[in-house]
Amino acid sequence: MTVISSTIGYPYIGENREWKRALESFWAGKTSEEQLLQVTKDIRLSRLQKQKESGIDLIPVGDFTLYDRVLDTAVMFGMIPERYGWNGGQVPLSTYFSMARGNASTVACEMTKWFDTNYHYIVPEYEGRKLAVTENKPLIEYREAKQELGIEGKPVLIGPYTFLKLSKGYETKDIPAFLLQLLPLYEKVLVELQAEGVEWIQLDEPILSTSISQDEMKTVHEIYSQLQKAVTQSKLFIQTYFDSVEWYEETIALPVDGIGLDFVHGLKNNQKSLEAHGFPADKVFGAGVIDGRNIWRANLQNKLALLDTLQQHVSVENLWIQPSCSLQHVPVTIASEQKLDSTIKTALAFADEKIVEVATLVKAVREGADAIVHELRESVDACEQLAQLPARNRQDVLQAVNNIGNVPSKRPTPFAERRVKQEEAFNLPLLPTTTIGSFPQTPEVRATRTKWRKGEITEQQYGDFVFDEIKQWVDIQEKIGLDVFVHGEFERTDMVEYFGEKLDGYVFTEKAWVVSYGSRCVKPPIIYGDIAFVEPMTVKESVYAQSLTDKPMKGMLTGPVTMLNWSFVRDDLSLKDVTYQIALALRKEIEALEAAGIHMIQVDEPALREGLPLKKDEWNEYLDWAVNAFRISTATVQDTTQIHTHMCYCDFNHFIDSISALDADVISIETSRSHGELVHAFNTFHYDKGIGLGVYDIHSPRVPSIEEMVEIIEKGLEVLDVKQFWINPDCGLKTRKKEETVASLENMLTATKKVREQL
Ligand code: GLN
Ligand code: ZN
Repeated sequence: MTVISSTIGYPYIGENREWKRALESFWAGKTSEEQLLQVTKDIRLSRLQKQKESGIDLIPVGDFTLYDRVLDTAVMFGMIPERYGWNGGQVPLSTYFSMARGNASTVACEMTKWFDTNYHYIVPEYEGRKLAVTENKPLIEYREAKQELGIEGKPVLIGPYTFLKLSKGYETKDIPAFLLQLLPLYEKVLVELQAEGVEWIQLDEPILSTSISQDEMKTVHEIYSQLQKAVTQSKLFIQTYFDSVEWYEETIALPVDGIGLDFVHGLKNNQKSLEAHGFPADKVFGAGVIDGRNIWRANLQNKLALLDTLQQHVSVENLWIQPSCSLQHVPVTIASEQKLDSTIKTALAFADEKIVEVATLVKAVREGADAIVHELRESVDACEQLAQLPARNRQDVLQAVNNIGNVPSKRPTPFAERRVKQEEAFNLPLLPTTTIGSFPQTPEVRATRTKWRKGEITEQQYGDFVFDEIKQWVDIQEKIGLDVFVHGEFERTDMVEYFGEKLDGYVFTEKAWVVSYGSRCVKPPIIYGDIAFVEPMTVKESVYAQSLTDKPMKGMLTGPVTMLNWSFVRDDLSLKDVTYQIALALRKEIEALEAAGIHMIQVDEPALREGLPLKKDEWNEYLDWAVNAFRISTATVQDTTQIHTHMCYCDFNHFIDSISALDADVISIETSRSHGELVHAFNTFHYDKGIGLGVYDIHSPRVPSIEEMVEIIEKGLEVLDVKQFWINPDCGLKTRKKEETVASLENMLTATKKVREQL
């Protein structure tokens, strides 16, 4: 054997989001289950074929999903919460999708961020019930690849320890019992793969890249000892990613046949460990050298140099060259982009281009660098030309960031005093009701925007249309009786794209979609240059909306950290400096809103948490600059201007003090889907500012009942003062239908009034 190319996972959405469309038309009842399965099979196979044609030697199978791979794993093991009424046997697609999305009578499973990415997985729930393999999904996909395309695939599974750690519903003391159930199931799946003649099986254990304890590492060792005993023919390959492994020596000593390490995001530490401790000669070494999470083209010369240093410790026979993680985190192909500036386009690589980079590196290792002279030169040139762009070298922005220490980052008056002034200024009832910002982006809203983008209607016509939507929803809010209004964000496709288009330093793609959760895709903009404010971005819509009502209208912005975390970011500057650039630009927008008479301004930071490094010892540094960036954007407003912020999926227990340090007058957070677990954070930390705990799940089409919202409000009031409590949905409502939204908000208001009456 010699060096080979391998991939860890590949996007499943299709070049034109065929996957998303297939799912959504099935959910809408427009296509049958058979049609769904046929379309998705075609997508599944074409992506395998593409990897083969690009020269990938070892192609993963089983990385495809109809919703989410963690959910697939739970379903494969029959880990289906009792509330879905499943009674054994094959799991119907309807049950699978109910777990993901909820149905008329049952709430969906919780959803949360996949490590530090913007992808969300469905959280498996272990209820202590008996588990059993319902179907061997990796095997089915392995067979399919072999039969249909002659591809000898590498089945991939989420590894047992990562699966266990991502599941909920059990306590530490239950872990042995959980494992006792789980491991025989893994064994069964692996042994069946082995019986089929599978050579390599990839088990993803990204959890090894987080701050797990040494004791946990022992458990991991025991798990793999047991699996290794059962699997004697097939070879097990543990794949880690997103950072260096916490326990390098223990990881490389695991009883498996190969280990994949991230030499992009975990480069420094993994390399240090490799130099200090070497790598076992009897294992395959998966070198994740091509960035699987960012979209920049690799400088192949640097990558070859890196591979040279790795090869001082690993023989070429045992080397796999691969991306740093699954390519599902990057868009499919740069070939779809027709409008990008050519210097920028040449400096980008999406999944299809990255697999070619992998194959090119393999060629160089096999045949010598001379074999790729042309590719080398092209890649180096592309990177150099990007670096020299004037937009990346702006002195004004550089100086402003260098001067950041002198910029105000603290509101002059403490919260307790601001609060009194704001109470007077706004005169809101107890338990003020509001929403998070967006209202339904109906097909009409989207179609009108498309027309405007294509030049089929004028700027004026589009602007009028947006104003009409705003007016319609101000009237609706008036009728429902909300206390604080929003304009509805009809002019925005997406909370980052909208701002990015109006700031300097961003570029946009046409089709560079990645999955955020379920079928929901996002098209992260690209921060390629220095970020700078150009002109007001939201003032027109907010001012118009405010002119229609006496109720306070919240201005609505996306915060600096979210602008960062939901973009693809240049990798020549620190994340901190890029965030400060954005913060300084947003501050100008906030000042413009305030000057235009908007006195409540919400600065959303839903992505604050996902930027947390995987390693706990790096959290403080991140939180310091992230919080500071928010404060730099918001610190200069008057005492009577109320700053709101919003976050989704917050594991508050760990960093509630940082959230408090944002010094936002009001925060709204998602809580309904985590079934009130969050509330406990407030028992241990005294949070004094305004806070809205989301009272219903906006990810599900289901209209929540009055009673369940009353219950959530009452639960919140057990730990929070009624004077600080706000009532709102979990998140923005742009993905919902109008009728659902109105019905849900009416129920929310009725629930609020009921609770108010009991006060
Ligand atoms: N203001 C945004 C909206 O309502 C917030 C969305 C989010 O937090 N993801 O759409
Ligand atoms: Zn949200």
